Amino acid sequence: MSVDPKLLEILACPGCRSSLREGDATLTCTGCGLVYPVRDGIPVLLLDEAERPG
Ligand SMILES: [Zn+2]
Repeated sequence: MSVDPKLLEILACPGCRSSLREGDATLTCTGCGLVYPVRDGIPVLLLDEAERPG
């Protein structure tokens, strides 16, 4: 399930306010690289839920 493009446009990383890039059930921050989960099409933009790359 993908994220609404209009929603994706207004979302930003809660850590660094950069834009997000959609992946496979994830949103990846283009700034700091944190990976946020998307659950049932709803982005979970919580630092506690994000995974650090690597
Ligand atoms: Zn970020």
